[in-house]
Amino acid sequence: MIIGKLVFGKDGLQFGLELCLARAGITAYPVTEATVTGCDVVLVSLCWYRDVYRLEAFQRRTGVHRGTGRPYWLAGGMQATMTPEVVAELVDAVFVGDGEEDLAGLLQQIEEHGDCDHPCLFKSGQDKVPEPKVCTPTAHAIQTNEGHGTWRVEIARGCKWRCAFCALGHLKPYAEVPLGELELVMRRIRNKRASFFAPERTAHSEWAAIKAGLRRHRIQDLSMDARLENLQEVDGPSVALGLEGLSERLRRTVGKPFTDDFILERIGGFVDSRRRVARVTTYFIGDLPGEEDSDWEAAWVLMHRINEAPWSRRLAITPCLFPLTPKRVTRLRDATIHLFRPYEKRWMDLITNHGKQWGFRVIHTLVNGPMERIMDALVERGGAPSYRVVRCLPDIVLCGKPPVSERLMMARKILANCKAQGISLEQLETGRRPGAAV
Ligand code: SF4
Repeated sequence: MIIGKLVFGKDGLQFGLELCLARAGITAYPVTEATVTGCDVVLVSLCWYRDVYRLEAFQRRTGVHRGTGRPYWLAGGMQATMTPEVVAELVDAVFVGDGEEDLAGLLQQIEEHGDCDHPCLFKSGQDKVPEPKVCTPTAHAIQTNEGHGTWRVEIARGCKWRCAFCALGHLKPYAEVPLGELELVMRRIRNKRASFFAPERTAHSEWAAIKAGLRRHRIQDLSMDARLENLQEVDGPSVALGLEGLSERLRRTVGKPFTDDFILERIGGFVDSRRRVARVTTYFIGDLPGEEDSDWEAAWVLMHRINEAPWSRRLAITPCLFPLTPKRVTRLRDATIHLFRPYEKRWMDLITNHGKQWGFRVIHTLVNGPMERIMDALVERGGAPSYRVVRCLPDIVLCGKPPVSERLMMARKILANCKAQGISLEQLETGRRPGAAV
């Protein structure tokens, strides 16, 4: 049987899928438009909402869809697990949850019977979404193609913190790979570059010993993520962290109760401990429940205070704003959002200091507007009928980027299409289906 794999990340590798293949002892070949028809099975990994649109674009370009028997499309990944209803409209079966213990058996069934069955599979037309399969993570290293082959090693699954908005903290129970297992991997990849990753790796109960092991084995630790409390655990000049709420008040509501003083102390400490310029990426979430003008004023106060700090002259900061799309597995799943709220201008004003520039270096970032937010909400909240909208979208929306000037118009067109398919703006903004009790 010829097995292809299709992922949409920049390096063509997806850790979860590679782990499944390694555990199954199976080789799968990267699929292209030219080779897809030669496959018996295509394993497709979907990690976020855009992958749903990219898969539609891929199938449209190749003319190869589900339901033909060859290739058999089998999907997995985080987005497939969270929204199997819409994904199942594109593939023959969706595996919900961790697939590493079951992939070999599923492929054997497909080879023998042309189809597969399992309590964690979801197929188009099925009523009930199964509970996700949960597997215990084990030490496993894969080498990426980028940057001369960095090794990636999972050290924990799920997250102890369970912040209100975060699917990573809610999708799976928290489980760690023990230090003893990780030591064996460290010995194997001694003197190499590696990322020992987890949703929040510094929360691993043996983190200090893992860090010491990395140093002992002279492994260059490339991970850049850390919670604000633990920025000093990052070795290089760059760090990425989630501040989330625009104000301390909003940060408290999502599980990151950071005061401005604490933010300044931690980021200042990080900058002061780097040799030259420190690069800090900070993530904020717009449209959190209860957001008010006073929260934006608080964000301005924080920027002014950074501006006044002497260390900020050695800081290059990349603030990113992501307006909320509630994920159904999280505590914010029923949150009301406002898809046409104009975040772009407000954000640009803040990061450019009303066009006058700040005294420290700020890398400008764009904000997802109504078009991207509708596409995200459609996948999250539209269910299986959302595919009827997806399949009508022009190619430029599916995987290209329409000119910024046309995106608002495109958002209105997508919305009109949603309405024609019985999906209202209210459903996308509140998650409530038409006629559902409030
Ligand atoms: S935001 Fe970070 S700390 Fe919070 S649950 Fe997600 S991964 Fe964990």
